[in-house]
Amino acid sequence: MEMTNKMPKLWNPAAESMDRGELAELQLDKLKRQLIRVYEQSPYYTAKFDKAGVDPAKLKSFADYQHFPFFDKDEERESQEDSKRQQGHPLGLHITCDIRQVNRLSSSSGTTGAPTFSGFTKADRDVTAENMARALVRIGIEPGDMVMHASVMSMWIAGLPILDAMLDYGACVIPVGALSGVERVAQIGVETHPKLIACTVSFAQHIVKTMKERTGVDPADLGIEKLVVFGEPGGSIPEIYKPIEAAFGGATVYDLMGATGCHSPTGIACEAHAGIHYFAEDNAHFEICDPETMQSLPLEDGVEGEIVYTGLDKECAPLIRWRDKDIIQVTMSPCECGRPGPRMTFKGRVDDMLLVRGVNVFPNAVRDVINKVSELTTGNMRIVKPGPEPVVPPPVPIKVEIQAGVPEERRRALADDLITAIRNHLRFRAEIEFIEEGQFELIKGTTGKTKLVEEAG
Ligand SMILES: [Zn+2]
Repeated sequence: MEMTNKMPKLWNPAAESMDRGELAELQLDKLKRQLIRVYEQSPYYTAKFDKAGVDPAKLKSFADYQHFPFFDKDEERESQEDSKRQQGHPLGLHITCDIRQVNRLSSSSGTTGAPTFSGFTKADRDVTAENMARALVRIGIEPGDMVMHASVMSMWIAGLPILDAMLDYGACVIPVGALSGVERVAQIGVETHPKLIACTVSFAQHIVKTMKERTGVDPADLGIEKLVVFGEPGGSIPEIYKPIEAAFGGATVYDLMGATGCHSPTGIACEAHAGIHYFAEDNAHFEICDPETMQSLPLEDGVEGEIVYTGLDKECAPLIRWRDKDIIQVTMSPCECGRPGPRMTFKGRVDDMLLVRGVNVFPNAVRDVINKVSELTTGNMRIVKPGPEPVVPPPVPIKVEIQAGVPEERRRALADDLITAIRNHLRFRAEIEFIEEGQFELIKGTTGKTKLVEEAG
């Protein structure tokens, strides 16, 4: 793609291409008001801030904000358990509005414990709609365009809340859902020819794999020009999105991201697939923190760390300094598409991160490198760590499943290639043990994802 001086269309250019100095002023002003509000309206926050020795009225800079305490999943769960007992609702003691102002509930999937809830007031729904409009304009969707929502119509944030915001934008929404499977998507798709389909990455893959065989309808014939995918990181991984684009006859896949505790969506990728453009800094503030010290890092090109969110406009129950546990790399340099703002690349989950002599290693990144090096492997692999701690001394043992019938000599060369690629891309020393195809016992983790790490023994 060539560099262009023409700025692609934006929904809210004043907010989306604000000068960074002006943006920081606006964020600080909103932040201070939000902190004072939660401190005054929620005894939970009063106690939390008092305990940390911070006073919102005295906040003068983002450096001061460093002293405010984080908020994490365990605290959220506890606050919601307490509000169920004390106030008869599950939104947490950190609620900062009248419970009767809450207009819609969302909930986490609850796969890793009891579900947690977020409430949205009418004002919160309006900010969500604003952010969705920003996303849709960026990818060339206009009011009246047919948009198929093929995701479970549930309380999940990418279920009904996204649908709600698409309706608000004025798109012609086709809420086909995902539960009736590819058959229904094919049947309705053939009749309506939507311009866009919004679904999870895995549902898009499922369509690619099964639709033609099961229904006789080739996804390429549906006339879909754009796919908005969410829920999993695959939408930015070429090995995943390229086959989807090809199967839909040259459609473009756009990876959509949200920010917990804010008004999702907060970012969408562009045609250049060069990271997700974060477009909501005026309402969804983020910090990048050093994963070991949790110190907020300066927002420089290439900075990487755990992302921490604060919903500046969240009315119902703001999560102040929410630890999202995602490791994100931020690109500040301009994108070739001409759209403004920082871009984000997902690197992995904090909980999955291994430490190899000071280097942060993500198992998914190791798998990606192995998959790129050779087609003789099968995509299955396991990093072996010595114990429950995330520390692994090098050389790091990695079991790699290999296809049947690869001769010994070829294996030795392949092991060397893998070790070199891992050292070059991920900066640590590995030791490869090949596992015969079919011998690998595939253990699924609690989230349904294949486990990439095992403990020795
Ligand atoms: Zn771009």
